[in-house]
Amino acid sequence: MLGSTGIGAELLGLKEEVRMKAMVLREFCEIELEGEARKRTDLPLKKAPLEMAELPAPTPDLKQVLIKVSACGVCHTELDEIEGRLVPPQFPIILGHEVVGRIERLGSGVTKFTLGDRVGVAWIYSSCGRCDFCLRGDENLCDQFQATGLDAHGGYAQYIVISEDFAYPIPEKFSDSQAAPLLCAGVIGYRALRLSGIKPNQVLGLYGFGASAHIAIQVANHWGCTVFVFTRKGQKEHQALAEQLGAQWVGATGDTPPEKLDAAIDFTPVGEPVREALGVLKKGGRVVINAIRKINPIPELDYATYVWHEREIKSVANVARRDAEEFLPLAAQIPIIPSVQEFELQEANQALRLLKAGRMRGAGVLRISE
Ligand SMILES: [Zn+2]
Ligand SMILES: [Zn+2]
Repeated sequence: MLGSTGIGAELLGLKEEVRMKAMVLREFCEIELEGEARKRTDLPLKKAPLEMAELPAPTPDLKQVLIKVSACGVCHTELDEIEGRLVPPQFPIILGHEVVGRIERLGSGVTKFTLGDRVGVAWIYSSCGRCDFCLRGDENLCDQFQATGLDAHGGYAQYIVISEDFAYPIPEKFSDSQAAPLLCAGVIGYRALRLSGIKPNQVLGLYGFGASAHIAIQVANHWGCTVFVFTRKGQKEHQALAEQLGAQWVGATGDTPPEKLDAAIDFTPVGEPVREALGVLKKGGRVVINAIRKINPIPELDYATYVWHEREIKSVANVARRDAEEFLPLAAQIPIIPSVQEFELQEANQALRLLKAGRMRGAGVLRISE
């Protein structure tokens, strides 16, 4: 579907630069929430951490595509970037790593896509393509791994450029807004499942029940696994949702499930679930930790109780191309349809405040161009 805008930009690009609107982050700040007087950091307090700017649209180089962005998901990672827990190499930076749009220009070396194709962009923006990790498909571990919306400009904008190798076709099943959250929570949840080594009909434990776990449980059910969900004590809403999404048993971290686990995935930011999961694992089982950092240590592990009999601990770092390539068609087939709350691009600050306050209903998505 090649629109007139596509051709227009192509011609314009040769003569004069195309301008675009973007919401940019110029400095770290603490996001100010309504009715919350307490300041937690030394950073300036701002209700509106991002600023609307008009910038030259990027131009694709040899192997890159220019995407006209139609939707971009709003993720907790953006809160970490704004409040300085994740540090971009330069300011200003355009955030956003759950990007959906149509290809409007092609670098001269692009072979995988044509103008008008609908594609998505995830957290992985690029990698070196030559190291051992890249060559074996673990480009998420590459020393030169770059993240979208952190090391390179992301999707809170009308346009983004990215290598054709890190753009993924979006199945027809999804609207632009529905596809956006799948590109982060979905792809990461899928990677964690994959690394857990779980097989059909086995027993899987999920610790913590946020966005990634919501999606992982639907994939595990589809594979015929028995899924047990462990949440913090008293998290009634999460527990009810877990049951609704097909958990066969729901309890609190530290509870003994009806059967031992073949594998467990820990989606929590704390240390205790790692030990608790090891404690209810079968011999030879594996615990996968899906967290960049833990806010408190993993408790001491008594070797005989928690580790002996070939039990394993493995962490998940970033995502690889293969995770997005495999997960998107699988999500369409199951299907996994995220519920979303939509905002205009200029309402990004409002969306970020809702997310920080825990008041977002479903996944937040910015609608950018039609
Ligand atoms: Zn994310
Ligand atoms: Zn590499």
